[in-house]
Amino acid sequence: MTHSTTNTHLLIYPFPGSGHIIPLLDLTHFLLRRGLTITVIISAANLPLLHPLLSSHPSSLHKLLFPDPEIHPSSHPLISKVISTQKLFDPIVTWFKAHPSPPVAIVSDFFLGWTSKLASHLGIRRVVFSPSGALGSSIFHKLWTHVVEINAGNADGDDKLLISFPDIPNSPEFYWWQLSRASRYYKTGDPDFESFRKGMLANMTSWGMIYNTFEELEGVYIDHVKKQMGHDRVWAVGPLLPDEHGLESTGRGGSSAVPLDDMLMWLDKKANDSVVYICFGSRSVLSEKQMGALASALELSKVDFILCVKESGSSLIPSGFEDRVGGRGFIVKGWAPQLVILRHWAVGSFVTHCGWNSTLEGVAAGVMMLAWPMGADQYANAMLLVDQLVVGKRVCEGGPESVPDSFELARLLDESLSGDRLERVKVKELSEVAVKAVKERTSMRDLNMFVNLLSELKDHDQTNA
Ligand code: UDP
Repeated sequence: MTHSTTNTHLLIYPFPGSGHIIPLLDLTHFLLRRGLTITVIISAANLPLLHPLLSSHPSSLHKLLFPDPEIHPSSHPLISKVISTQKLFDPIVTWFKAHPSPPVAIVSDFFLGWTSKLASHLGIRRVVFSPSGALGSSIFHKLWTHVVEINAGNADGDDKLLISFPDIPNSPEFYWWQLSRASRYYKTGDPDFESFRKGMLANMTSWGMIYNTFEELEGVYIDHVKKQMGHDRVWAVGPLLPDEHGLESTGRGGSSAVPLDDMLMWLDKKANDSVVYICFGSRSVLSEKQMGALASALELSKVDFILCVKESGSSLIPSGFEDRVGGRGFIVKGWAPQLVILRHWAVGSFVTHCGWNSTLEGVAAGVMMLAWPMGADQYANAMLLVDQLVVGKRVCEGGPESVPDSFELARLLDESLSGDRLERVKVKELSEVAVKAVKERTSMRDLNMFVNLLSELKDHDQTNA
């Protein structure tokens, strides 16, 4: 039975950070289009990211604006940020109690595990939004469940120790140095670390879980999560991306540091699949040595390229580089319109740090993936892309500080654009599957199921009121 979405009110709470906010706002957009009423919890600094949606859905989208929480000093930056958000517990309860038709559920980022307690205090369901894939998040879950034993098993901090995850499909293994920093530096007894861990574990006992992934990409891992959670309310609704021709893709996550027309004019002159796009996400900045090696590789290679360097790292570009590469290179210092670039027919491969959003965006655009993972879930994402899906190759391995060999990197860049490589054929096939998943198949089915269930909850709650 289909229930009406009218007056189905949902609270959405993204974790403050580009890689977390961007996909959850994309999901918000899809849910608004299905007729839900949504309130998004947002801080002043991130409000501009919500503006486009607020103006396109003035009556159904509302903001719950809070000042940026003061950063709580802790021994780990991520944990400090997470703990700081907990100060919003009471203000959210006050808002909820005063609301004439409060939300039936809260969808909150997987770092905001404390919202499970908030949801039960309010008598509503909590749905986790995972900005990581099902493989990456399954590894996080195992890590946080067994963090004390895992760390005790490596008291000497041997970087080369292999840590296995035999319960996860395909039994992934990672070196110690590839595990998330927050778990490696876990401090037993430290209230902030304990609180963060409790939040990560609460994710798996939540009422539901939404993944920005799709069944055809991560089916075995999605089934694994369903088994772990003990129910089927796990929805894979990705890739969550704005429409190909919609305006949303241009200013997504920030305004472009370069005039879009200049960049498109440059790209339009290039041949099909002839440009390498290089970007390491919203946070990672290369060291001077890494930037030097990358710049030499680009000079040694014959490829045309777009290189995106964060403003803070732009002084590391070797002097004279831009003149030497001339018209072969287009350099973006600051925020790049990544989705527009990846979707352009001239772009054939993508040097990426393998953040989950970049991973999905590259796959959906059908570009060959050149993996340079640096931390967090990126080693797992590289494993999925290179070893399991065979849609890419590794171009740098060995840890966040590792510096690639320029000659080898130049060779891999050239090779990535040569002919119909297996990886390119496979990624183009996967891209078609991704588009179908969202437009008509599995991801569309899961999103519809989620919306219908929420509306059912609303009808149920109204009947019992
Ligand atoms: N992004 C962008 N322009 C940039 C850098 C990043 O549009 O210059 C977007 C990118 O498209 C992706 C997100 O920011 O949607 C980065 O998320 P990802 O998970 O790839 O990496 P993170 O930044 O979280 O490490």
